[in-house]
Amino acid sequence: MIVSKFGGTSVGTYQAMQRSARIVASDSDRRLIVISATSGTTNDLVDLSESTLDSTSREEILKRIEERHLNIIKECSEKEKLEKEFYGQLSELREHLDFVGRDKRWKDRLYAFGELMSTKLFVEVLKENGVQAEWLDAREVIKTDSTFGNAEPDREVIAKKAKKWIDPKKIYLTQGFIGSDIFGNTTTLGRGGSDFSASLFAEAVKADTLEIWTDVAGVYTTDPRIVPGAFPIHEISFNEAAELSVFGGKVLHPATLKPAIRGGVNVRVASSSEPDEPGTLIVKETKNKPVIRAISLRKDQTLLTVNSLQMLHQHGFLAQLFKVLAEHKISVDLVSTSEVSVALTLDTAVNAANKVELTDQVLDELREFAEVSVEKELALIALIGNEMQKTSGLGGPLFTALESYNIRLICHGASSNNLCFLVDHDESEQIVKMLHEKFITE
Ligand code: ADP
Ligand code: ASP
Ligand code: MG
Repeated sequence: MIVSKFGGTSVGTYQAMQRSARIVASDSDRRLIVISATSGTTNDLVDLSESTLDSTSREEILKRIEERHLNIIKECSEKEKLEKEFYGQLSELREHLDFVGRDKRWKDRLYAFGELMSTKLFVEVLKENGVQAEWLDAREVIKTDSTFGNAEPDREVIAKKAKKWIDPKKIYLTQGFIGSDIFGNTTTLGRGGSDFSASLFAEAVKADTLEIWTDVAGVYTTDPRIVPGAFPIHEISFNEAAELSVFGGKVLHPATLKPAIRGGVNVRVASSSEPDEPGTLIVKETKNKPVIRAISLRKDQTLLTVNSLQMLHQHGFLAQLFKVLAEHKISVDLVSTSEVSVALTLDTAVNAANKVELTDQVLDELREFAEVSVEKELALIALIGNEMQKTSGLGGPLFTALESYNIRLICHGASSNNLCFLVDHDESEQIVKMLHEKFITE
């Protein structure tokens, strides 16, 4: 069995849906199809959730959502039925917007409209291509805790639910990104979470292969939108690909590979508009293991520097610091410490899969025992590769290349698959281009 996931751009227009449906139809092993919201819709829903939104902007956004879906519907053979169904969903969405108790639970239910709408349309486009798929509500299977916005899936319950709802002989179409908690509340897995959903489904149904169909022909050496000379990697190891996704390679949600590794599922990333291109295979071990395989970039990073108010040799300071961060569920990326101070980076990007909010409350709690400073608009660059901590001769050329830039923090040695550093936001793309040219060869 193959689990195939199609991202937002792969289902964003009628033509894109047709291309994706033809891919599904071309192999009868593709029996569990997971799709995202139509491209742009989740961003629109996030904008709708803003408490400061005025009614004119609200109507504009709703109009955008309506037009995007109607443009697809008008090309479908089952126009009337789909239109009726869609307007039903739209009025449900409006009712939801009028609801007063706007908490995190309300937001997740709002965000779910995107995937619920796209799947209703795509199931018809599949039919037009001879694929009779059953529409499956992902919330029946993807059971999670109640961390709204970034829910943690429960893999044992998911395995049981998959057995109950999925007959391996049939074909299903379901939503990425959404799940539900034990009370039946809708939850979401973090921005870009459809990849993660698909991987959870693949593990649960014991699929042989997970396919991630997107708008680029695989995992590239760096974001091809930033560096035109970037090229697709034919084979990459699970470890390298996991590091790449964690450090900003948006092509995969950072948690995607864990379920696939656990379930021994092969992963392939490919382009739905160029399905004949080989794409990228993500495998346990690769034959060639370059020291630097890829470069990733994550913008909108925050640097938090914490100085202990106590004297030197104060033990327990790190524990105290991380206790506060853990209590607020703040995940930390890079850490650099000296005797009395600690610098750490947080992913505060708006669309981050694990977005961190550094609230005044957290800062106040830290200020009880430390001096705290916060710097924003930084960018994290990661070099991804193999045996990086054991390779001599890497530091020299790298630091020479970076000579004229201000490097704020460096982390090297903890992982054999990455070397990361923090730079100014404005210089970051230029640095990535320069490093790609100097260190990555085909
Ligand atoms: P989807 O909607 O299919 O999930 P995304 O926009 O989430 O697609 O991810 C695909 C995008 O990821 C590409 O268009 C590309 O700009 C970006 N990207 C960032 N880093 C990489 C990389 N190393 N390889 C490929 N794409 C990357
Ligand atoms: N639609 C969701 C988002 O835009 C999930 C996804 O695309 O993977 O974040
Ligand atoms: Mg994505």
